[in-house]
Amino acid sequence: MKAALVGADGELLHQARRSTGRERGPDSVVESILAFAADLRAHGEEHLGEPAAAAGVAVPGIVDADRGIAAYAANLGWRDVPLRKLLSERLHGAPVALGHDVRTGGLAEGRIGAGQGADRFLFVPLGTGIAGAIGIDGRVEAGAHGFAGEIGHVVVRPGGAPCPCGQHGCLERYASAAAVSEAWAEASGDREADAADCAKAVDSGDPRARAVWQDAVDALADGLVTALTLLDPRVLIIGGGLAEAGETLFTPLRAAVERRVTFQKLPSIVPAALGDTAGCLGAGLLAWDLLATTPEVSAR
Ligand SMILES: [Zn+2]
Repeated sequence: MKAALVGADGELLHQARRSTGRERGPDSVVESILAFAADLRAHGEEHLGEPAAAAGVAVPGIVDADRGIAAYAANLGWRDVPLRKLLSERLHGAPVALGHDVRTGGLAEGRIGAGQGADRFLFVPLGTGIAGAIGIDGRVEAGAHGFAGEIGHVVVRPGGAPCPCGQHGCLERYASAAAVSEAWAEASGDREADAADCAKAVDSGDPRARAVWQDAVDALADGLVTALTLLDPRVLIIGGGLAEAGETLFTPLRAAVERRVTFQKLPSIVPAALGDTAGCLGAGLLAWDLLATTPEVSAR
């Protein structure tokens, strides 16, 4: 878990990290979050002169932000955790916003990170899987059921590799950091080799690595062109482990997207700027948004 005390302009006043303690079960994770937040509140009171006026929390899985409920998280074992209520109680009644981890990270990237306030953006982190956050006029679209932005499960290779979601040929089976790691381990014969090693081999001119890399870039471009055809974003922000390859990824990716568009306008394609602090900065922005939209809170 990453946490921070965040100033009004997105400034990081204090940062901390802790383990979730998930090996001790789902309830223990909830308690870890509550205790962490309470300690941050105390830190603000002691070192900054006042406790945080509001809190934001971003969690993985299926999130019902309106009701403040973490509905489902497979890796934490959660079902219907009323996180907003629990956290507000622990924080002496402070208002709390609950968000989805990728959408919340996307909010920060779009507003104060790589998007620099873009009115329309798409944030796509390439990690173990691939997710997405659709930014529209300063907020991130959740969809009717909380599933908007799941670009990782757009089919780009019909009849292709099976995906845990039940489909075949999903984008994340070809262009996630995990998929590239798997493909390069196979092609190089080194079971320990990962996506970062593949990028290095691409840079040194290894033809096998170039083939693996180009397959991923082409699949990613196919998925992104589908997205930009639907959404017409001004900026495409690419993050996650694979984006750490820098221009080794971005130069061929921009070319591959450009080759595919016909009438569509090309968005700028940029690397994410906030790294793994995007989620907690975004949670801070959610908290500040609460203060801005709740008159009785901002008057305190
Ligand atoms: Zn899938």
